[in-house]
Amino acid sequence: MRVLITGGSGFLGSHLCDRFLAEGHTVIAMDNLITGNTRNIAHLIGNPSFKFIQHDITNYIYVKEALDAIIHFASPASPIDYLKLPIQTLKVGALGTHNALGLALAKGAKFLIASTSEIYGDPLEHPQQESYSGNVDPIGPRGVYDEAKRYAEALTMAYHNAHRVDTRIVRIFNTYGPRMRLADGRVVPNFIAQALQGQPLTVYGDGSQTRSFQYVSDLVEGVYRLLQADYNQPINIGNPAEMSILDFAHAVNEATGNTAGIVFRNERIKGDPQIRQPDITRARSVLHWEPKVTLREGLKETINYFREVL
Ligand code: UDP
Repeated sequence: MRVLITGGSGFLGSHLCDRFLAEGHTVIAMDNLITGNTRNIAHLIGNPSFKFIQHDITNYIYVKEALDAIIHFASPASPIDYLKLPIQTLKVGALGTHNALGLALAKGAKFLIASTSEIYGDPLEHPQQESYSGNVDPIGPRGVYDEAKRYAEALTMAYHNAHRVDTRIVRIFNTYGPRMRLADGRVVPNFIAQALQGQPLTVYGDGSQTRSFQYVSDLVEGVYRLLQADYNQPINIGNPAEMSILDFAHAVNEATGNTAGIVFRNERIKGDPQIRQPDITRARSVLHWEPKVTLREGLKETINYFREVL
């Protein structure tokens, strides 16, 4: 296959480039580099099966080659990023997705979009099944991302129904691993960077809010399987191992040997979900997929990466 990966030099996009190349496919990575970084794909430059195009996909996308699949991962994805880039976040979810779907239609390519657990908002149903329609405040600070992704899902289903584009929707829950940006503001890089510098970890609120952290290789495996599967409905990909942010902070301090402890900060963004856990029944039955990497193993790899970057 020849595959276009939008957001191809971002955290997840670059790992997907690696995986598709390792499977023998040809990859075109596209990124405008507002949150992506060419460092993530530097090791691929010179590979004859790989090409990078710097382009903002909210503008018309031109690709001269035939394409078999488009993996649409371009978007700011950290709450801090989409607070700083609210209009870009909305535009890439709306106009960027429209352009990417138009390209899929023109090329007769499969289309897979990165959606998110954020479409469930601050959920009133727990764990979150794909049938749950969510609890999102459209004009809240996180709404720019949540609504962009909800619109992107709607547009994807519309292209599937109206134009018969062969589409996939993956709803990604919190994912971590090497190549996350040190300063992207999310809890994993924040805590690891603080711990490696011997600082106390900044827990926002009382730390009772929960997340379920998945290691990046599990996500990549889920995405790869979903593209091969004949399945057009949304599918959750995440690790159901839910924990409080306070327990996560303790886990990071333990894994790094940091003795500086924890400080509590009143910095929760309005609408910060209190609970989050994927129900992965659908992924188990449709994709025969489930996460394999434990938090202990995943943290070790991620800490080693951040140690090099710092
Ligand atoms: N958080 C925290 N300390 C930090 C950064 C984040 O306690 O330094 C909390 C944040 O309030 C949220 C959770 O960690 O409840 C996960 O935040 P993140 O930004 O990683 O992503 P989210 O899952 O909210 O999209």
